[in-house]
Amino acid sequence: MSATRVLVLNSGSSSVKYQLLDMADRSRLAVGLVERIGEGASRLLHTPAGGERRERVEPYPDHGAALKAVAAELAADGLGLDSPDLAAVGHRVVHGGREFTRPTVVDDRVLAEIERLVPVAPLHNPANLTGIRTAQALNPDLPQVAVFDTAFHTTMPEYAARYAIDVATADAHRVRRYGFHGTSHAYVSRATAELLGRPVEDVNVIVLHLGNGASASAVRGGRCVETSMGLTPLEGLVMGTRSGDVDPAVVFHLNRVAGMSTDEVDELLNKRSGLVGLCGDNDMREIVRRREEGDERAALAFDVYVHRLRKYVGAYTAVLGRVDALAFTAGVGENSAPVREATVAGLEGLGLAVDTELNNRRTDTARVISPQYASVAVAVVPTDEELEIATQAYALVSS
Ligand code: ADP
Repeated sequence: MSATRVLVLNSGSSSVKYQLLDMADRSRLAVGLVERIGEGASRLLHTPAGGERRERVEPYPDHGAALKAVAAELAADGLGLDSPDLAAVGHRVVHGGREFTRPTVVDDRVLAEIERLVPVAPLHNPANLTGIRTAQALNPDLPQVAVFDTAFHTTMPEYAARYAIDVATADAHRVRRYGFHGTSHAYVSRATAELLGRPVEDVNVIVLHLGNGASASAVRGGRCVETSMGLTPLEGLVMGTRSGDVDPAVVFHLNRVAGMSTDEVDELLNKRSGLVGLCGDNDMREIVRRREEGDERAALAFDVYVHRLRKYVGAYTAVLGRVDALAFTAGVGENSAPVREATVAGLEGLGLAVDTELNNRRTDTARVISPQYASVAVAVVPTDEELEIATQAYALVSS
């Protein structure tokens, strides 16, 4: 097959992020995003490889109009969607339920199944579906590949995926732990094994994906055995605006005592909690700066964030039994030396330590930051979800 390009689309409710990659050399030919779709003055930012960034501000009433504008920008660079070099469009789809365990070429059955999962992913799956349908309409001959955020976690054993609630009720409403960020956990756990120069089958890794959303996973020999997000991305670690783990009775309490509706508590836990709820900021740079200036709220937010991370590292050490590497990734994980240092401080008993100089050094590439003597390699491993989506989509259509 001569076509080697893959367009990766990450469609949100009012935005589309895109990258065009050439899988012959894994290079990026163009990257961009459209924001504020359907909100009046939408904005398109497009950057071709080696070229200047271009900006267009005009109204795109829907994803169809936005993607048409993206297609026009790509065509202006000689990278049009009708090019015979384009092998597929790879779509990030947030929720694949139990059904989708691997990337899948989209047909009517697949669309119907993604639609059926809307009740468990009401914010994300509709936007992802719109992205797929729009791309299909632009070029009906092109394979559309859905790559699911949940797929990597479908290997979790049943006892890790189950909540301890009445089985009939749980099954009737698909209430179980699915996990998210799977594309990143898959990519980073494999990249960590590569960094250590060992076959992925032999390596046990704890991955901490710390972006605005954050999740941990325990990966044994390349297969996920546990992850921190659950039915939705709300469970687990402290995030930018999400609480992560709370006693579920907090919801009933706020309902009964504060008179808050289900939607209001949903909004509280997803949008006004986490770092923002604790100190008003969700940017870790700002929190670290304020903490260094003696700001107590910022210091508490930092401590709550790190304490939760340490609990998960301990728990996942027990889940895996033997840990070869702890990998930090995404915005906070890749960039915040203070968070990494505090996460492993005093955990020599678990074989964990960081070398201060290695931890503070900045590079764009994967690196080990633990001292020689540590039995667990602590690593900073930049994630690349677009490359992973393109790789999976390309592998599927070129096989
Ligand atoms: P998203 O989940 O939106 O993809 P990212 O992985 O890009 O998020 O992470 C965004 C977060 O990374 C920011 O909110 C900020 O807290 C953090 N971050 C980015 N750069 C730095 C930095 N240099 N130091 C500390 N934190 C950073």
